[in-house]
Amino acid sequence: MKNIILTGDRPTGNLHVGHYVGSLRTRVEMQNNSNYDKFIVLIADAQALTDNSGNPQKVRDNVMEVMLDYIAVGLDPKKVIFAIQSEITALPELTAYYMNLVTLPRVLRNPTVKSEVKMRGYGKSEECGIPVGFANYPISQAADITAFKANLIPVGEDQEPMLEQTREIVKSFNRIYGKEVLVSCKSCLPENEICNRLPGLDGNAKMSKSLNNCIYLSDSPEIIKKKVNSIATFPRALEEPGILENNILFTYLEAFANDEHFVKYYPEFKNLDELKKAYQQGGLGDGRIKKFLNDVLQDVLLPIRTKREEAAKNIKYLLDVLKEGTKEANAIANQTLAEVKEAMGINYFVDNKFEEEVLKKYN
Ligand code: ATP
Ligand code: MG
Repeated sequence: MKNIILTGDRPTGNLHVGHYVGSLRTRVEMQNNSNYDKFIVLIADAQALTDNSGNPQKVRDNVMEVMLDYIAVGLDPKKVIFAIQSEITALPELTAYYMNLVTLPRVLRNPTVKSEVKMRGYGKSEECGIPVGFANYPISQAADITAFKANLIPVGEDQEPMLEQTREIVKSFNRIYGKEVLVSCKSCLPENEICNRLPGLDGNAKMSKSLNNCIYLSDSPEIIKKKVNSIATFPRALEEPGILENNILFTYLEAFANDEHFVKYYPEFKNLDELKKAYQQGGLGDGRIKKFLNDVLQDVLLPIRTKREEAAKNIKYLLDVLKEGTKEANAIANQTLAEVKEAMGINYFVDNKFEEEVLKKYN
């Protein structure tokens, strides 16, 4: 079977280091080192509108920001098809057919949707109910994935329930309509478990654009330093043992620090294990750990920011890439839609079969 990779992000803000370790780093790795037939990255503006219907300008403004973040981390327009979701006309149509294969309680049982509903305060009052489109977004995500017959999906852990929903739709569709039209998919999670769901600066379980608890890939060195210094730590006397559990500083070090960083910025220790041991013994203040974390993040983000600034100088090229990619994506999705409609028997006028049937029956 040929591998088709698909993934995407909502243009609700600049991409952050959670995206980087959770999904972007895996994408670049897959782009450069794996076998695939096609690699599609969707800028999911239609999905972003499901909880930003009152703020379409925000979504519009962030399309090119996200595109710049992609180029900044090393995604390559020569290897990847970049496309804008709302411009792919087959997607809402596929979504509409898939909606008939899923029950309402099933959609609302999705644990990621549940926690996002809570986070956004939906359902607390009648004026602030859950938008139907929002509750439905896992089904539209199934349309995104299946439209390209994608089988490999590099995403963070919060997307696992969406892929589960997609697999259920694929199974139901192929069973009911009697053809193996749709292809099943699996997630490609980062190897380092801590990267599956990077917590926010405020200690919230997930760094998320909507929670404003992020270090962005485009943050300046000064902002990065300020954000690192703002991380709350457990108050303790210097000689007291440091606690690693729920310690965001160490969570971030687990996600970003490598042995080279120790050589460069903290030569007293060889690696993170050694640092952790010393920290637990006491005598190591959080100020010093923050300094190291800042050095590490600056080191990781400098080349990304530089590439981003370079790419911004040639924005017309990226606009063209996006326009061409969207065209190509449309062609692929239209082909799948045609197969879906054929399997469902709703392709009335693509050939003469329907006409012949009708004439035979009524003549
Ligand atoms: P929003 O708040 O608008 O939902 P977000 O920060 O959750 O934004 P998305 O665009 O929803 O970002 O997610 C894009 C991709 O990045 C998904 O694959 C998701 O799993 C991954 N991702 C997002 N946040 C994190 C995180 N904190 N840790 C690891 N992966 C993440
Ligand atoms: Mg999200």
